[in-house]
Amino acid sequence: MNQEADLPTIFGSIRAQQPCLWVNPERTAAEEGGAPVEVDVDEAELRMLRAAPLLHRLWPESVSVHQAVTSPLVDVDRLSHSLGSEPELGRWLLKADHQLPVAGSVKARGGFHEVLAVAEGLALSNGLMSPGGDLLVLATEPARALFRDHSVVVGSTGNLGMAIGLLSSALGFTSIVHMSRDAKEWKKKRLRDAGVSVIEHSGDYLNAVARGREAARQDRHAHFVDDERSPDLFSGYAAAASELGPQLEAHGVTVDSEHPLFVYLPCGVGGAPGGITFGLRRLFGPDVYCFFAEPVGAPCMVTQMASGRSEPFSIADIGLDGHTEADGLAVGQASELVAPLMRSRVAGIYTLTDDQLFTLLRRLDDSEGFEIEPSAAAGAAGPLILGHSRTGRAFLRGSGLARVMPAATHVIWTTGGALIPAEERRAYLQHARQLHADLRFDDV
Ligand SMILES: *Cc1c(COP(=O)(O)O)cnc(C)c1O
Repeated sequence: MNQEADLPTIFGSIRAQQPCLWVNPERTAAEEGGAPVEVDVDEAELRMLRAAPLLHRLWPESVSVHQAVTSPLVDVDRLSHSLGSEPELGRWLLKADHQLPVAGSVKARGGFHEVLAVAEGLALSNGLMSPGGDLLVLATEPARALFRDHSVVVGSTGNLGMAIGLLSSALGFTSIVHMSRDAKEWKKKRLRDAGVSVIEHSGDYLNAVARGREAARQDRHAHFVDDERSPDLFSGYAAAASELGPQLEAHGVTVDSEHPLFVYLPCGVGGAPGGITFGLRRLFGPDVYCFFAEPVGAPCMVTQMASGRSEPFSIADIGLDGHTEADGLAVGQASELVAPLMRSRVAGIYTLTDDQLFTLLRRLDDSEGFEIEPSAAAGAAGPLILGHSRTGRAFLRGSGLARVMPAATHVIWTTGGALIPAEERRAYLQHARQLHADLRFDDV
C-alpha cells in the first residue's frame, strides 16, 4: 500500500522538516466525540484537591497544604516585547507548569493523578477507606504495607518517569521505571536516590515502553502507566482547566466571542496538551483556541491529524526518524486515545526547529528569568505564528477573529524545567547563545 497517496500539501513542509502551521478544518463550535467513560474530569479535579494534604505530608517543603499541584499564571510583557509582539495582537500570559512542585513538569498533573487513583483504588478495595474519604490514609502504615506488595511501572525517558517514580515510591509502592540506555544520567540517579528501580534497555523510548508494558502484564500486582492510552493520565491533565479559569479571572481576563483565548501547548504523544485542551473546551467552549507545538523532527500529532486518517499514521510512515533535542516531545506516533478527541476541539498545530526552540528558551531566560527545558519553550512562538505568519493571518481573517485580536489573551504553557540540573541548564544556554534562529514567521 502506498502510505503517501493523497496526503494534503502541508506534508511537503512536514516531510522537509520546515516550520509550518496547520489549521484544523474540522474544528467545530460544539465539541463532538465524547471521551471514553473512564475519563472523568470532575472526579480528577476533586481528587487533586483532596490530595493536597497528602502531598503536603509527603513533601512539606515543596507542596502547599491547600493547593498541591498548581502553578502560577503570570504576565509576560517583557517576553512579548523581546519577541516583537505589538498591542494589536493582544495580551500575553504564561502558565508556569515548569515550576510545578516535586516533578517540575506538566507530568505532575497527569502522572500524580494516575498514581493517586491507583493508590485510592487499592485502599478502597482493601477496606482502608470509604469512597470520597480522607486521602491522608494513603500515608499510614497499613496503606504502605499494602502498597509494598504492588508495583507501579512506567516506560519513559524523562518527565513522566520522574512524576510516576517519585510519587509511587514516596507512597511505598515498588516503583519501576523502564528507560532507554541513552536517557540522561542525572534522571536515572535522581530516581534511584528516591528508591525507584531504574531498568535500562538498549534501543529507543518505544522499546523501553514496550518492555515495561510486557513486564507489568506478567504481574497481577503491577500497574502499568500507559502514556499512549491512559484515561487517568488524560483526566489529570484535563483538571488543569479548573485551575486556569479562576486565575484568568484574577487577571481580569474575560473569555467570550469578543475576547478570545488562545493557548499554546507543547505536544509529545498528546496526553498533556490533549487533556488540557479537553478541559478548556469544556470550560470555555468555542471561544478558546488551543494550538499544539511540535518539533519539526518529531511532529507526530500534526502528521496524524493533518493526514485525516483514523488509523494510526506515524512519522516513520513519511520517512522521519524522530530526532530532536526536545526530548520531552520526541514521539513518533500520536496517542490513539487523544487524536480522535482533538478532531473537533483543537484549533491547529505548528512546528518549530530545534534551533528555534533553543532561541526561545534563551529569550524566556533573558527576559523573564524562567528556567525551562527546550521542549517547554515551544509555546512561546504561538502568538507570533498566529499573528504574523501567512497561514495564521489568513486563519484570523477567515474566521472573523482578526477584528477582535486587540482584545485577545494568549496563554503560553511552559511545561517543564525545574528539575534540570544547573550544569545542564548552563549548557543549554551556552548552546542557545551561539544560535540566531529566525523567529519571524512571515513565510509560514
Ligand atoms: C511530556 C511533556 C510534554 C508533552 O506531553 P505529551 O503528553 O507527551 O504530549 C511537553 N513538555 C514537556 C516538558 C513534557 O515533559
